[in-house]
Amino acid sequence: MFLTRFTPIPDTCPFCNVWETLAHVYLECARLQPLFQLLTNILLRFWLHFSPHLFIYTLPIRVPTKSRDLLVNLLLALAKTAIYKTREGRLGHEASCDCGASFRSSVHSRIRAEFLLAASTDSLDAFEERWALSGVLCSVTPSGSLRLTL
Ligand SMILES: [Zn+2]
Repeated sequence: MFLTRFTPIPDTCPFCNVWETLAHVYLECARLQPLFQLLTNILLRFWLHFSPHLFIYTLPIRVPTKSRDLLVNLLLALAKTAIYKTREGRLGHEASCDCGASFRSSVHSRIRAEFLLAASTDSLDAFEERWALSGVLCSVTPSGSLRLTL
């Protein structure tokens, strides 16, 4: 499937100039490797293996691992958004087009916002259950401060 069927854009990838398909944009472009390595490392800490199939179709939500599954699926969605936004940025000639850095920044922003909301509503336990699983992305210190670990 070719992107140009949906939007009037150049036929070639704005990063590597090969013929651009959806598969190239979201799976094959060499610029994605640092992001995929980061996702591989994160998912391994959740006892999951990163694969193109998982990236595209996400995890089925299962009761015993519901918190992890929901968090991983959110991370995969944020990764796809980072790919889209940095590609749009490149087409708009923006300076920063690093999808790994964009992904990490969006995860940090989301965690900080969720932490501030939880702290202000006295629900840090629920925050930890959702975001601090195994300390992969963050943790809450004994004094109640947020520590980002991604
Ligand atoms: Zn490319």
